[in-house]
Amino acid sequence: MKRRDSVKVTGRFAPSPSGRIHLGNILCCLLAWLSVRQQAGHMVLRIEDLDTARCPQRYARQMMEDLHWLGLDWDEGPEVGGSNGPYFQSQRTDRYQAALEQLEAQGLVYPCFCTRAELHAASAPHREDGQVIYPGTCRNLSAAQIAERSLRRAPALRLRVPEEEIGFTDGHLGAVRENLARACGDFLLRRSDGMFAYQLAVVVDDAAMGITEVVRGADLLDSTPRQLYLYRLLDLTPPSFCHVPLLLAPDGRRLSKRDADAGLEVLQGRMSAQAVLGKLAYLAGFHPSAEPASAWELLEEFDWDKVPRSDIRLPEHFFEI
Ligand code: GLU
Repeated sequence: MKRRDSVKVTGRFAPSPSGRIHLGNILCCLLAWLSVRQQAGHMVLRIEDLDTARCPQRYARQMMEDLHWLGLDWDEGPEVGGSNGPYFQSQRTDRYQAALEQLEAQGLVYPCFCTRAELHAASAPHREDGQVIYPGTCRNLSAAQIAERSLRRAPALRLRVPEEEIGFTDGHLGAVRENLARACGDFLLRRSDGMFAYQLAVVVDDAAMGITEVVRGADLLDSTPRQLYLYRLLDLTPPSFCHVPLLLAPDGRRLSKRDADAGLEVLQGRMSAQAVLGKLAYLAGFHPSAEPASAWELLEEFDWDKVPRSDIRLPEHFFEI
């Protein structure tokens, strides 16, 4: 592992601009920002627009306007610049390619010809989130089989994972362990259409941008062991990780960009940024009442120990006044 020469805390916002920001994203950005600012650290904004079809430029611009409206600023990234750009993943594919080649040189990458439909139809075990645990169908194809299948279909690329537990201590949730072979199987590095996978891109970028602290939603907790495995193979220093509780709709469903009521578009018409942040900070346990407060005002009160460790259910009509 390489050593870092500087210890300044560097955090990041890493939104995927596939729609308008919602309350769950805002909570995550707020906590990431508060954690970095409280440590007098450095904040980076990186736009995770690898899926260019789902992430048109206008959403990225909108996302930045939304962060400005909320008063959550960044020191490096689009609009402000910096020495680690470009800050759009769609412009960084040469870096992902180089990392892929490093993994290929270790003999750990193989082409996979399975379609999503085939994987779902096969009796491959599924994870709780509905994803398939890759059963290794294409793991040991011969050169002749690969050549023959390549004539019919462009392959995706997968990384071989070991039968090994990978553990880490999450800054908020504590000890986490996962056996990659059993939890997800050999995972995708590049899709058959050439798009690099999130897991590879996020590791390459967090390392290249000197990120020391990742604060993100608990839905990505189980991605972390895969990412730690990539840090190890690429000989990069991993950051620390803090996963934050997810916001649930009043009926217990996960909030998504489709929940118009929780979207900033609707909220902006109803209340100030301070009102949104105050309510979120109250739900997140560190603001004593649901009174409005700016991000800078919340800095005094922010305390990781007060933030719940399980998902937060939005009270009915909480953001309606
Ligand atoms: N781009 C991801 C998202 O918006 C976040 C990735 C990360 O924080 O590692 O869900």
